[in-house]
Amino acid sequence: VSAISRTYAMRSGMFGRAAAVHAVDGVSLRIARGQTLGLVGESGSGKSTTGRIVLGLEPPDSGEVRFDGKPMAAPGTTAWRAQRARVQMIFQDPLGALDRRLPVATQIREPLDIHGLGTPPMREERVRELLRAVELTPAHGARYPGALSGGQRQRIVLARALATKPDFLVCDEPVSALDVSIQAQVVNLLCDLQAQLSLTLLFISHDLRVVRQISNVVAVMYLGRIVEIGSADDLFARPEHPYTQALVSASPAPGRRSAGRIVLAGDPPNPAARPTGCAFHPRCPRAIARCASEVPALSAVGGDRQVACHLVTGAATRDAA
Ligand code: SF4
Ligand code: MG
Repeated sequence: VSAISRTYAMRSGMFGRAAAVHAVDGVSLRIARGQTLGLVGESGSGKSTTGRIVLGLEPPDSGEVRFDGKPMAAPGTTAWRAQRARVQMIFQDPLGALDRRLPVATQIREPLDIHGLGTPPMREERVRELLRAVELTPAHGARYPGALSGGQRQRIVLARALATKPDFLVCDEPVSALDVSIQAQVVNLLCDLQAQLSLTLLFISHDLRVVRQISNVVAVMYLGRIVEIGSADDLFARPEHPYTQALVSASPAPGRRSAGRIVLAGDPPNPAARPTGCAFHPRCPRAIARCASEVPALSAVGGDRQVACHLVTGAATRDAA
């Protein structure tokens, strides 16, 4: 019907009340329809806050979130409810997301009841369809959350998130609580469903291995800012920002030997004590004097890559590297 691409853009600055913490500072992201943007970084980098702002669960104190080219509707309005049916989320802890006292099929049906989608028999059929989509059976649907494995529970949460046929899914560490052997299965399922349903995903994870598996575009966050963004394959093959280089060196591609792990000195990032200049400078193996005083801007360095580092300034730097 249309050749218009749907984009989700956001710009925001978050300030916690107590300590004026920049959880997220001037982050700008666009996700094209049907694409997965992987948002990576250590805990405290502002990834989850970014996800919550995108979902409308937290207001940005500056900037805005646009969905389908239009600003997100105000919470509580009819427009917001309609939008919420199209924007869904999955978090780390499937058990916390489910009600232990109800059979899981009932919980998958809940969004259909809330949004008044279909007749009761149609809803029952839709629940069976959703169970099949996440590779479970009606027998699983009859169980309570406590009688399912962690991986099965996350599949149930996924089925429920898909019930209203959303276009956009925010996944915040969706497999981090699962056994490593189960993680790949759930991520594969998510990849398959994304392709089948043309879902747009914002996939938040500290785990590069998982992000590599699912993302088209990757954004790396450090203390509330995007320090590098680019196509996933290219970014993993040729990380430019010293922080991304350290992350990638610690998580080599499967079957590939690490070229040597870059071990970062200093403390993990603390949003309440943000260093001056480039926030990464106390840990950066390549820091120069300027880094302690001047904040590097995120700038295009060739291709679709953007990097925020005083040492990475353009195509010439890339070719010389
Ligand atoms: Fe390192 Fe300086 Fe680049 Fe920051 S700006 S990443 S401290 S070299
Ligand atoms: Mg988090």
